Amino acid sequence: MKWNWGAFKERLRRGISQRRRNRLDPELLKQMARGILTTRPDEIGCDECFEQVDHFVDMVLAGKNAAAAMPLVQDHLNRCKDCREEYEALLTALRAAA
Ligand SMILES: [Zn+2]
Repeated sequence: MKWNWGAFKERLRRGISQRRRNRLDPELLKQMARGILTTRPDEIGCDECFEQVDHFVDMVLAGKNAAAAMPLVQDHLNRCKDCREEYEALLTALRAAA
C-alpha cells in the first residue's frame, strides 16, 4: 500500500492546529503560569502522539498489538479526545484507501 503520509499529515496538522488555537484550557494555562505541570514524565503530549500515531495506525492495520508496542501512544489516546478523533480519522481513511 502506497500512501502519501506527508500530504495527509500536513492536512490533518493544519486542521488540528486550527482547533488547538480555539481551545485554550484555562486550567492548563493556570498550571503553566504557576510552572506546575501535572503530566507524568513518561507521558507524551499531543505533538509526540501525532508524530507516532501514523506508525501506531500502521501496526493496527497490520493486525499487530499496537497498544503493547507503543503504550505511551495508547495511553495518550485514552486520555486525549482530540488525538483519539485524529487517530480514528486516520484509521478510517486508511481502511477506506486500502
Ligand atoms: Zn492529544
